[in-house]
Amino acid sequence: MSLGQVVALGAHILDVLGRPVESIPPGQGSARLAQIRATAAGTAAGTAVDLAKLGAEVYAVGAVGDDLLADLLESAMRLHGVDTGGLVRVPGTQTSATILPIRSNGERPALHVPGATPLLRLEDIDLARVASARVLMVGAPDALGWLTEHGLADVVAAAKAGGAMVVVDVLRQGSPRDLGRLRGVLAEADWFLPNGEQICAITGRPDPVQAINDVLDLGTAGVAVTLGADGALVATRGGGEPTRVPAIDVAVVDTTGCGDAFNAGMIAGLLLRADDADCAWLGVACGALAATGLGSDAGITDLRQALEFLRDSGPRGSEAAGRLAALAGSETGAGAGRRRAADRALRERALAVIPGGMYGHQAVGGLPADYPQFMRGGQGARVWDVDGNEYVDLMCAYGPVVLGHQHRAVDAAARAQAALGDSQNGPGAVMVELAELLVATVRHADWAMFAKNGTDATTMCCTIARAATARTKILVARGAYHGALPWCTPRLAGVTWADRSNLGHYEYNDLESARAAAVEAGDDLAAVLVSPFRHDAGFDQELVDPAFARGLRELCDRAGAALILDDVRCGFRLHLGGSWEPIGVEPDLSAWSKAIANGHPLAAVLGSDGFRRAAGEVFVTGSFWFSAVPMAAAIATIGALRDEDAIAAMERTGLALRDGIAAQAAAHALEVNYTGPPQMPYLTFAGDRGHELASVFAAEAVRRGAFVHPRHNWFVSAAMTDDDVAAALAATDAAFAAVRRARAEGSAHLAHL
Ligand code: PMP
Repeated sequence: MSLGQVVALGAHILDVLGRPVESIPPGQGSARLAQIRATAAGTAAGTAVDLAKLGAEVYAVGAVGDDLLADLLESAMRLHGVDTGGLVRVPGTQTSATILPIRSNGERPALHVPGATPLLRLEDIDLARVASARVLMVGAPDALGWLTEHGLADVVAAAKAGGAMVVVDVLRQGSPRDLGRLRGVLAEADWFLPNGEQICAITGRPDPVQAINDVLDLGTAGVAVTLGADGALVATRGGGEPTRVPAIDVAVVDTTGCGDAFNAGMIAGLLLRADDADCAWLGVACGALAATGLGSDAGITDLRQALEFLRDSGPRGSEAAGRLAALAGSETGAGAGRRRAADRALRERALAVIPGGMYGHQAVGGLPADYPQFMRGGQGARVWDVDGNEYVDLMCAYGPVVLGHQHRAVDAAARAQAALGDSQNGPGAVMVELAELLVATVRHADWAMFAKNGTDATTMCCTIARAATARTKILVARGAYHGALPWCTPRLAGVTWADRSNLGHYEYNDLESARAAAVEAGDDLAAVLVSPFRHDAGFDQELVDPAFARGLRELCDRAGAALILDDVRCGFRLHLGGSWEPIGVEPDLSAWSKAIANGHPLAAVLGSDGFRRAAGEVFVTGSFWFSAVPMAAAIATIGALRDEDAIAAMERTGLALRDGIAAQAAAHALEVNYTGPPQMPYLTFAGDRGHELASVFAAEAVRRGAFVHPRHNWFVSAAMTDDDVAAALAATDAAFAAVRRARAEGSAHLAHL
């Protein structure tokens, strides 16, 4: 669900934080730190990111510089789903930025450049957008320069005219002089959310309770003041003495952003229409979470996690969490915060301009409604959909992402090549380099050719085999997937009989059936095409029987036909030397794509010397087949797979996932089959032929933030950490519980199970 629209207007600051810093080294000295981070911060940007995580649709309004800091700031915000369309870039100015050396006790001296924040003008602001929001957050009227007294009142009036709540926080410590400038906006504010020092400084009162009363007297409807380890005070005009909400004890790493996190929690509570004290409870919980990591965006994952944290904080927190969770639309609060609005809007637009709204293997038409269709981005083993919902990625773009999203070395290599050129009049030097690397890496390969997609590669293998043998028939396993051209696509619309007339079929792992198909092909057998293991979508996976693989090799040798290994899906996930290297069976030709460039578009055909001449004779090409960037990415991918021992890492992670899932299924008394190699598992439920239970499972797992599929094998990437596995398992545990409930409820179509 979405909490609603928020406009976050004001200070957008890029924080660069390092820890732990005990002292600045003298002279030219240097010191080693444990961690350095850059985050989107400031009373507008920091609050915006946390609010987006909690489930609000946030539109950021502010001034930034025309520099790299602004690029970083915007991408940090967008990654979490904030719409940065309201940020204006002021030429010749730098983005507001702070360097924060964090001491080991969490204290944070700040070195700050005010930069562009004060340069926002009224004409830069989309007042219609402000008027349509549910909340206008004015972050830092004390730092907005000219606008504070020349236009801010108009912005606030637009918000009020549209029925939006106006929430204000200040950036600086302040002094009584500020009160004059802030009086106007405070008089109109529904809530003012300063910290204790700030409210005392601007009112000139030593005591926060007196200070609160002064502000309420200005006309502000409510004030919530954060007091660090003393929690928060909440008061409303005419509401009597302030209510105190205690702080929640955590191991503090860094207090940067705690105030912004409090604001986000408080606003999320207001959007849920919770009562004032419960809003402050959520604020305090978010503030505490933010203190557990480095930087203003640390600690908070989503509303469900914040509510669970609050629930576990003690009896009063638990009661508040229960009330907030009920308002969020679920008893436990779990699953709350999943937004769908952006995805829904894109699907509607897509329907008008894309046949069926989407096509191909990534179309979610046949999947449960909880699946997002459109994705925003990823980092490591986490991905975000267009609404900013976060998932542990167990699909990895259906295979291409093997080292994790945005792998540093791969993306650096791609960027370096892109700076030179990508599509040109000829390939780059990287083509030869990559061919050499593949020949050195994959045992059966004496040469390499490149294309774009797996289908290009499997089709090329067949064409080369036919050119080499001057025969036509290719044997494929019944039900196997080798691509989406008419000769191999699983759907028959638009396919002619002639397209398929040169195929014969055998059953995977059944040598006799392959021999019978070969006899039928007679002296016209060009090739046997086979995948490294049986991974047909929707069926339990079956590892290859080595005797079957050896039998196919012998069959091809005797018939003078080519053995083609379709390593498109498994290549570089199971073994660097090719997926059949461990069983010692070498194909003549192999098809690769998906993982070879960690998500960059590339396919390869590798072959042995016996097929080199035929490979040189066929005419195969494509407009983008020789582009250099994916080739540079592939070289880096293969290097990283080796350097990081990535395949062993995926195997370890995959085993941990498998063990966890097996234990959960047993605990829920559900009979499951978890098949395939640990890096490419697939889960089915006993007797669930129509995938109804698998769909219930996958829908709930996705709703809880683990991206899995009910009818396709999953993929583990080398970026998965223990935390990712734990988060995925938390989601699958809830998914098993949902399956159990669905069975117990015995809905008609599940009754046969
Ligand atoms: N072969 C196999 C085994 C595959 O898994 C796939 C893609 N799922 C293909 C071929 C076709 O690859 P592409 O979709 O890149 O054309």
